[in-house]
Amino acid sequence: TVVTRFAPSPTGYLHVGGARTALYSWLVAKAAGGKFVLRIEDTDRERSTQPAIDAILEGMEWLGLTWDEGPYYQTKRFDRYEHYIQQLLNEDKAYKCYCSPERLEAMREEQMARGEKPRYDGHCRDNPQASGDRYVVRFRNPQTGSVAFHDHIRGPIEFANSELDDLIIARSDGTPTYNFCVVIDDWEMNITHVVRGEDHINNTPRQINILTALGAPVPEYAHVSMILGDDGKKLSKRHGAVSVVQYRDDGYLPEAVLNYLVRLGWSHGDQEIFSVDEMIQLFKLDNVNKAASAFNTDKLNWLNQHYMKSLPAAQVATHLQWHFTDQGIDSSQGPALEQLIPLMADRVKTLKEMAQQSRYFYEEYQDFDEAAAKKHLRPVAQEPLAAAQKNLAALTEWTPATIQAAIQQTADELEVGMGKVGMPLRVAVTGSGNSPSLDVTLALIPQAQVVRRIDRALS
Ligand code: GLU
Repeated sequence: TVVTRFAPSPTGYLHVGGARTALYSWLVAKAAGGKFVLRIEDTDRERSTQPAIDAILEGMEWLGLTWDEGPYYQTKRFDRYEHYIQQLLNEDKAYKCYCSPERLEAMREEQMARGEKPRYDGHCRDNPQASGDRYVVRFRNPQTGSVAFHDHIRGPIEFANSELDDLIIARSDGTPTYNFCVVIDDWEMNITHVVRGEDHINNTPRQINILTALGAPVPEYAHVSMILGDDGKKLSKRHGAVSVVQYRDDGYLPEAVLNYLVRLGWSHGDQEIFSVDEMIQLFKLDNVNKAASAFNTDKLNWLNQHYMKSLPAAQVATHLQWHFTDQGIDSSQGPALEQLIPLMADRVKTLKEMAQQSRYFYEEYQDFDEAAAKKHLRPVAQEPLAAAQKNLAALTEWTPATIQAAIQQTADELEVGMGKVGMPLRVAVTGSGNSPSLDVTLALIPQAQVVRRIDRALS
């Protein structure tokens, strides 16, 4: 069975690059009916934090990238790593290195002075005399030949073993190093496909050599390229939100973010819209672009609007409710969210805006929008508002059709255009000059409240 994993280091939030890697990895597992493993690589105790772990889990859950196994934590698996370090030592596939930091430093300086890339010179590799209390454990890397693998995204890749030195696998305090933990975990968790960022390409030959020395199978690899901002620079906070949870807070639907992420570096003809099921069916690692991809907020906004309009309103409503709660709007009295969504989806880019602009359906607005009030209310549009109020208050049925007729009747009585009645009325009831069509908007607010709000505007 296909087993993939996402292995974030919890040193920060889940950013869009990590989320895309997680998505690709998840899709490979789902497409094959396999398993997706979540592994938290928290061995860097200084930089790993619980809030970062929580943020990663929260981001994954929000996106719906559910894991079949885990989360595993590397800090809980030290006995496994120690076991294999001992095994490699016993088999002479690793050795103790007693070189002092001073010696290593001098070696490094000499190499750099000669214009060489610094690498361990193998002093303790075949030196049975070497001894001392303080040592690190180094992996005995092959010195000849090469390591080759086929990267699903980048094609064939080969490293000469002469370029790789004997990697430290355990530090002098006995703790295992990063590359070693990854190797043991990928093996013990039966990972068949490693999908990760391109910044790990140089680790791959080292990891393959260690796997081979352990007699472990070598997984398949895919190294995903970087995401750049719209200015071509590495994506960072300067470009706006980069954390997945921030996208939720900003009012994006997970469906839109997933669709956006899958297209960032992958395509299927000129299709833009992909449901998760379609992604599972169509996504192929081998079709992922090896060039870096540029982030494009307009496209994300476009997708978000598409999903606000096309997903079942009940589904969008759960997310919208989150934003009402986030903004402290009590939506228990007032129109059902499912009624609101089709009215508002065309008018806003995000659910956050939708909640902000729907407040007046649920509570009294605080203040009139200054510009709209100036244009349509002040000096108070006394006559049309008073007449409209009278006609609206007289209605015995409160529907878009009866409301529309009452507005029409008011305009007829005053012999003015509809706009001369409609705009003051809109500002009086919603506080702003911007709302869905007036008849529908008013119908969603109780009649008595509409009458009261006109009073307020008249006063
Ligand atoms: N923990 C690594 C990272 O966050 C990923 C390592 C891997 O996928 O092998 O960059």
